[in-house]
This record gives sequence, C-alpha cells and structure tokens, in this order.
Amino acid sequence: MTTDTERRLGIILGDQLDESYPAAMGLDPGRDMLLMMEVAGASRSPESSIIRTAVFLSSMRHHAQRLREAGWSVEYVNLDAPENTQTFGGEIGRAIQGFKPESVSCVEPGSHALDAEIRGACEDAEVHLDVLPDPHFLCNTDEFADWAAGRKSLTMEYFYRAMRKRLGVLMDDGEPEGGTWNLDKENRKAFKSAPGAPPIPVFDRDAIIEDVLAAIDRVLPDLPGRMARWIWPVTREQALECLADFIENRLKFFGDHQDAMWTGEHTLYHSVISAPLNLKLLNPREVYAAAETAYKEGKVPLNAAEGFIRQIIGWREFIRGVYTFEGPGYGDRNGLEEHGSLPDFYWTGETDMRCMRDALESVLDLGYGHHIARLMVTGNFAMIAGVHPVEVNDWYLGMYADGVEWVTTPNTLGMAMHADHGIVGTKPYAASGKYIKRMSNYCKGCRYDVSARSGDDACPFNVFYWDFLNRHSKRFSKNTRMTMMLKNLDRIEPSELTQITVSAGRLRERFGIASG
Ligand code: SF4
Repeated sequence: MTTDTERRLGIILGDQLDESYPAAMGLDPGRDMLLMMEVAGASRSPESSIIRTAVFLSSMRHHAQRLREAGWSVEYVNLDAPENTQTFGGEIGRAIQGFKPESVSCVEPGSHALDAEIRGACEDAEVHLDVLPDPHFLCNTDEFADWAAGRKSLTMEYFYRAMRKRLGVLMDDGEPEGGTWNLDKENRKAFKSAPGAPPIPVFDRDAIIEDVLAAIDRVLPDLPGRMARWIWPVTREQALECLADFIENRLKFFGDHQDAMWTGEHTLYHSVISAPLNLKLLNPREVYAAAETAYKEGKVPLNAAEGFIRQIIGWREFIRGVYTFEGPGYGDRNGLEEHGSLPDFYWTGETDMRCMRDALESVLDLGYGHHIARLMVTGNFAMIAGVHPVEVNDWYLGMYADGVEWVTTPNTLGMAMHADHGIVGTKPYAASGKYIKRMSNYCKGCRYDVSARSGDDACPFNVFYWDFLNRHSKRFSKNTRMTMMLKNLDRIEPSELTQITVSAGRLRERFGIASG
C-alpha cells in the first residue's frame, strides 16, 4: 500500500516510451523519479543486432529528453557509464540505494524473465513494487484470460471478431462492414513486374543516434547485423510521420499485395511501423483509427483497411494475450521435437538460395522483414529443416528492430515453428518452393531448381518440405487440417521418398543444421 506523500521510483523500460505512463502509474513529477536503463545484458541475451540495439537506445534517449522537458526527473543510465552493472536488476538495485524510494512502480514488462528480474531486485532491496496493467493494449491480460477461459482452442479469428464488435471498428449496425469479417481471399496477389512501391520516409541519423552508435561501439563492438541503411523513426513525431505516410501512400495497395515478395523490395506496401508501435511511440488506437478513417473517406478499399486493422486489433492483441495467458515456460516449448542448429547464413546472409538471401539481407541491413518473408521464408525454412525452435526464436528476437518478447515468441515459436503444441496455429505453416515461386520473383535465376524435390540441384524448400511431412506424418495424421498434405505425400513413390530423405540429410550437413 502506498500513500500520496511517499517518494516513488518509476521504471520506464525501453519498450515503454508512451508519455502517459508516468502519470498512469500515479507518479508525481515534483516528488518522484523515473529510472531508464541501457544495459548490455539486453543486447546479449539473446544476441541482438546493432540495428535493434540502436533503435531501442536512440528512442529511449529521445524519450528521456522529452520527459525531462515535461518536468520529470529522470535517472538515465547510459550504456557506457563506468558504474553501469549492465543488468536491469543491478541498475534497479543501485537506483533504489541512491534515491531511497519508499516504493517502486512499473508498467507490466513485455517479458516474463524481465518481470521476474524487476520483482527480484525490489525484493532484494526490500522495497514494495506496484505493477500496473499496460494501458497501451486494447485487451488487457484479465480480459484476454476471460475470453480464453473454457475454450477448447484459442482461435484468432473469433478473438478478432469480438474485438471488432467491442471497439465498433468497421462495423455497420452490428454487422461487419461489407458483410464479411475477413477479406484475406482478396489479399494474395503477386506482382507480375517490378512493383514500384513508393519509398518509406527515411530520417537522418541525428546526434543522439550517433552518440548511441559510439557507445555501442565501445561496449558491444561485436553485435551482429550491419548499419547499412537507417530506416527507423526514433521519436513520436517521426513515428506519426511514418504512420501518416503509410495511410496516404501505401495502405491502398497493402491488402492486395501483403503476401507478395520481390527481390530488393523489402518494405513494399507494408506499414513499417512495427518498431515504433512495439516501443509504444505509437498507440494502436490512433493506428487503427487512421486506417478506418481512410476507408470511410473513400481513400482506401475495404480489403486493405480490413487486412491492416486485423493485424492491429486482432493478431497483435491475440498474440500478446497468448503470451500472458500461457505464462513463463511458453518460450521453451519444442512441440515437434526438433534439435537442429540455426545455419550460419542466418547471421551473414551468405547463401545461394535467392529467397533466403533477400529475406536475410533485409533483416541484416534494416532490422526488418515483412510478415510473409518472416513466416514463409526464414521461418518456414527453419521449421521444415528441423532447427530447434528456441534457437530460431532467439534469432528473431535479437535481429528484428521490433523484437519484444511478448510479440516475437508466440509469432516465432507458435506461428512460424509450430512448436507450441498448436496453440497459435492449428497446423504448421509449411510450404515448398512452389509457394515462394508463386508469391515472388526469387526463383528466376536461382541456382536451385524449384520444380525438383530431390537431388543436389533440387530447391531446398522442396526437399525439406517433403522430408518434414514424412518425418512427422504419424504426428500430423491426427490433424484433419493436414489431410490434403499427407495425401500428396502418399502419392510419392517410396524410392523417391528415400532420395528425398538422403537429399535432406545432405543439405542438413551442408548448412550446418545436422550438428544440433
Ligand atoms: Fe528459394 Fe527454391 Fe526458389 Fe531458390 S528455387 S529462390 S531456394 S524457393
């Protein structure tokens, strides 16, 4: 129990850059202090890219400046401060010793491990901790638990419909706008020629970003990734500019082409606001409202508005609900019992598979990949090749600028790797090279043959896809959604299946997966 006269310490984490949080925690600028921490531990476990680290730290430094301008006292621990213990627990302990608060407050962290570390630090210091539900989300943890309770399975589509009704978004007199909830059928168009998507806004690297990069160079000189091109907003104003630019210039084509891929065109018609949204420089309410307004004003078609709004109020909130509902331990699941190592080319981009090279270049150079590149290229490859899901999850969490555990872990472990025993997806998102060929221009000129499924020149996605179905056929036979895939597997002659198994083993050796 706290009183109005107590001095409090408010923790602001790197993904909690919403200006309303200190007041939401009941803090008082004249009495209380805010603590913001840059710690090397956050970039080491898991190993984070230089881009992700720079996006987080630059956004945090800008935010601290803004909070100070608004009258808050901010104790800001720089990455290269000599006294920095480089752990959250150590820095919270040090701040408690220095400021001697009667209590500590924070908004619930987006990571179970960090939640435990904060609680542990306060317990060690024998200071009371208040943890506030995160007001950023449209569905809080209790509301999600109520929705999930008693359901046989958690289906995003039903959650999404409930959210549409509750928020009154794209609704028409109690019915979905246009008479249907989901227009995904219209959203799978590929490009026939170079797409010519408008460029995304790009901001200069300011003095704060340069200072952050210098600090990273001193403390974390060996981080993976490359500072090839800086595309990320690090202030609220920049984030709002990105949102407005997307709504104005790209949303109208987002629906049609959201699943398409094209060599060297990494952002296409996507919003590229996931990092500022996950760092909470943007609020989901203003994001879905902007898309709905554009639709109502006749600027964008329904399939585009609906597809985008579903990501914001449906998928994003659902994924966060799964993370909180399932609790600690979710991220350790390995439902398909795979144990392979993540190939080195995930860290270098050096591979002769054109699709993988393009998807990995986007991650290494920009800290970005759109949802299909993540799900159907890098994720699909890791799953069908048999990589351990925890290794894959660590890579996703560390390498994308928008990586935060509540969103990355269910998306990677559940959606991409099908490792959570079917909670996020009732069937694996496994696909052969045929899917990639249909949705991109990658296969033209690739050294592999996308029509072959065994032998040294066969597309590795084909080899691993059939090998994956074969290895797990017994497990998948209980899943009615897999019936068609298994029927196709049955059509393959046993002698060819043996060749596929041999080819898959060879590829696993060559890619360094088999060592796991
Ligand atoms: Fe990717 Fe296979 Fe197509 Fe090459 S042939 S680009 S490896 S899907």
